[in-house]
Amino acid sequence: ILRLENIGKYYGRFQALADISLSVQIGEKIVICGPSGSGKSTLIRCVNRIEAHDSGRVIVAGHELTAKTRQISQIRQDVGMVFQSFNLFPHLTILQNCMLAPIKSRGLDRSDAEKIAQNLLSKVHIANQAHKYPAQLSGGQQQRAAIARALCMKPQLMLFDEPTSALDPEMVQEVLDTMAELASEGMTMLCVTHEMSFARQVADRVIFMADGRIVESSPTEEFFRNAQSERARSFLRRVD
Ligand code: ATP
Ligand code: MG
Repeated sequence: ILRLENIGKYYGRFQALADISLSVQIGEKIVICGPSGSGKSTLIRCVNRIEAHDSGRVIVAGHELTAKTRQISQIRQDVGMVFQSFNLFPHLTILQNCMLAPIKSRGLDRSDAEKIAQNLLSKVHIANQAHKYPAQLSGGQQQRAAIARALCMKPQLMLFDEPTSALDPEMVQEVLDTMAELASEGMTMLCVTHEMSFARQVADRVIFMADGRIVESSPTEEFFRNAQSERARSFLRRVD
């Protein structure tokens, strides 16, 4: 579903990503971790082209992303993204937030969009918040609403960039539980997170980044039992 081949990315003269290669199969769950500034967000943003890569190839569902890609909006429809900050539209209710893109981009009519939205809000256990505005919800509820909103587009791949790092500690678990549920239903997921117990429980593979490079990419068990690089081991000692 996703293939990255030797991706490079510069911000000015600063190299944020160097020679990143990665492929993700349908149904795979991958956790990306690594120190601050290692390029995790940049990498994930190159997948739906919020950032453009400078070299290498990004291929999503068989389509290569280039400056000329006409299907870029199509690809964004198929790739859901959840950010650290919830990025809900503040002037729309939770339900309206969830209905907007399916109506605008997928061409659904209102009643179908509403049905799908209500369904997914139930699934993330906030059906009773549908008519509130984002500011009236707790952080954990807002993040679950953001997940539901992304799911309303029926994405083939979900990207998460530290979805729990802006939350109060007591709300982290409810969001992780929602993500774990999604994983168990077979969603393909690429998650940047430092929640190592989540990684252990859910990920098929863990990728450790440092200085814009993939330092390690191992099956989850192996990563935790026997990380190859000293940097990954010292990272694990710090986050656990
Ligand atoms: P964190 O864990 O803090 O979120 P990260 O691994 O997600 O870090 P990135 O946000 O991908 O790291 O940033 C990688 C590097 O690129 C950092 O050194 C950062 O300062 C730099 N960088 C990121 N975005 C930009 C930008 N828009 N302009 C210039 N430099 C940037
Ligand atoms: Mg980041």
